[in-house]
Amino acid sequence: MKRGNIYRIYPNKEQKALMEKHFGSCRFVYNKLLEIKSLMYKKFRISLSEFELNNHLLVLKETYPWLKEVNAGALQQASRNLNSAFNHFFKDGFGYPQRKLKKDNHFSFQLPQHYELNTTISQILLPKLGWIKVKMHREISKGTLRTLTVSRTPTGKYYISILTDDGEKLPEKQEFSHDTMVGIDVGINTYAALSTGEKIDNPRFLKASLQRLKFLQREVSRKVIGSKNRKKASKKLALINEKIANQRHDFQHKVSNRLISENQAIAVETLNIEGMKKNHKLAQAVSDSAWYSFVLKLTYKAQWVGKTIIKIGMFEPSSKNCNVCGYHNSELTLYVREWQCPECGTLHDRDINAAINIKKIAVGTTV
Ligand SMILES: [Zn+2]
Repeated sequence: MKRGNIYRIYPNKEQKALMEKHFGSCRFVYNKLLEIKSLMYKKFRISLSEFELNNHLLVLKETYPWLKEVNAGALQQASRNLNSAFNHFFKDGFGYPQRKLKKDNHFSFQLPQHYELNTTISQILLPKLGWIKVKMHREISKGTLRTLTVSRTPTGKYYISILTDDGEKLPEKQEFSHDTMVGIDVGINTYAALSTGEKIDNPRFLKASLQRLKFLQREVSRKVIGSKNRKKASKKLALINEKIANQRHDFQHKVSNRLISENQAIAVETLNIEGMKKNHKLAQAVSDSAWYSFVLKLTYKAQWVGKTIIKIGMFEPSSKNCNVCGYHNSELTLYVREWQCPECGTLHDRDINAAINIKKIAVGTTV
């Protein structure tokens, strides 16, 4: 079983500077190889293999000698990541790989091996970078140490994430039936609605932070571009974004733990990742990415204990159909919270009705 272990690290000034070079170089290599691979694919319908990409990487290193200042394994990993982004595109229906941009906060690089964690002195040895202090707030999970990711947040905090693999197989999937499964709908006003009729709301502290985020976003846009005040406001904005991310993760861990322990199977709607990337309203984008990371948590936690997550395509009409008689309410708009079915007379809460339908669709495909 593979597990991720995240720790904060405290690099010194020189190490920080060298890390910036790693972030920049890995982004550069990824984007350059993406360019090459896209060109070959679009012009000649040739899909470069991982091996060929690595050859192009060697050429890049000759052309741009400064790439040799950073760890070779990190650059190779960037090439590997591009290759798997293409695999996701070809096999899993993910979007076409995109350039990694500085403005999207892509400040990370990965090391497949050759690092050393010393838990006794709470330090990690990274090639080229040397020993760095680690805050070991939690013991690392047992197993072989695999890929390590170094990243920096927009507020200037550094983290490592170490993947461990204990070599054990995942537990077998447990049986489930109609009675032991639940359907969940992403709420528009609430966080999530369950087919049991329960609604899970965003915690108050998170709502407060989201209000503050809206305010700070306005503040930033009001200040003159390039001014000191704008920089100050941007810094505050980055801090609140980070706080929200942390609060959200905590909340999602709590909710996902509970749902996994209470149910044998959970049915959720999957989001259209392509649609997520298109520039729609910010609020929608935030709620989509929150949902995405929630489903991710549900998925890996379910694997750990042998429970099942059933993903339903977004194309299934979950909110517009009456879950009792199947009547299709084509006039239901986004803002209607409750509606009564003209066929059978049932009074529906929009989100709960959707959750029940999600469960029904899941039952139809599995039980
Ligand atoms: Zn009905």
